Amino acid sequence: MRLAGKVALVTGAGRGMGRRYALGLAKEGAVVAVNDLKADKAAETAKEIEAHGGKALALGADVSKKEDTERMVAEVMKGLGRVDILINNAGINPFILPAEKVTEEGWDRVINVNLKGVFLCSQAVFPVMKEQGGGRIINISSQAGLFGEQGLLPYSVSKAGVLSLTRVLAYEWSRYGIYVNAVAPGFIAGGMNEPILGKTELVSALAERVPLKRFADPEEVVSVVLFLCCEEAKYINGATIVVDGGMTGYPPKPILDLLGRR
Ligand code: NAP
Repeated sequence: MRLAGKVALVTGAGRGMGRRYALGLAKEGAVVAVNDLKADKAAETAKEIEAHGGKALALGADVSKKEDTERMVAEVMKGLGRVDILINNAGINPFILPAEKVTEEGWDRVINVNLKGVFLCSQAVFPVMKEQGGGRIINISSQAGLFGEQGLLPYSVSKAGVLSLTRVLAYEWSRYGIYVNAVAPGFIAGGMNEPILGKTELVSALAERVPLKRFADPEEVVSVVLFLCCEEAKYINGATIVVDGGMTGYPPKPILDLLGRR
């Protein structure tokens, strides 16, 4: 119960990793505001938290829309009275394409959710955290944001942008007690990778790029995110914690080649 008395807001928590972060935060004693684009999916996670004896509030909001993010934070304040932790998790990776085939619409869609969404949600909680005298913001980036993944141009750019945004916010908001950090996971056996987990050849080829030769168990990423929310992590600020089994130490094998799309 390392987070008893805290209120956490998790974006994109109707399923995938966001749902797991929300459940993990609740297990540590936090009251959790569960956001998702689909309000009914957010409500499912909130119900699951409550079934385990926790307290949760479900919120439907599109993180890429300013008015939605402001309404979302206002609803958390009305329902729960404070926001101590924000996990900027909502993210999409809707296509794998060579750079020359990425459309303007595809670019905007990915950047708006993955990068602008992190900016808008952080800005929306800022006055609350400033008034409270502090808070923790954890931004979910990706190993793709560190070295750039072929076939994932807007996704890689958005996740690299999240790292830069993390450092700037940490610099600017530390004076208010707001610590901002990023987590850059590699391949997780869950969330947006669920559709490929049954494709054993592809999974093996991707895992071959990882020195540990396997995808991360989702809980191996959850534990790092929870740590960053806790007292023990209070000298970590503006940092990127890489949770990729050592993959960033290796030159990447192009996904486009692995998929035979070159
Ligand atoms: P996921 O299973 O696809 O879940 C993404 C969640 O975000 C969904 O609940 C989705 O809602 C929600 N979402 C999408 N657009 C939104 C919006 N505009 N506003 C609010 N919520 C929105 O993906 P995941 O694997 O859990 O990914 C979570 C985060 O981890 C992402 O930022 C991703 O880039 C990052 N990440 C994942 C991996 C991995 O291997 N899985 C690795 C590195 C980084 P809907 O249900 O309505 O679509």
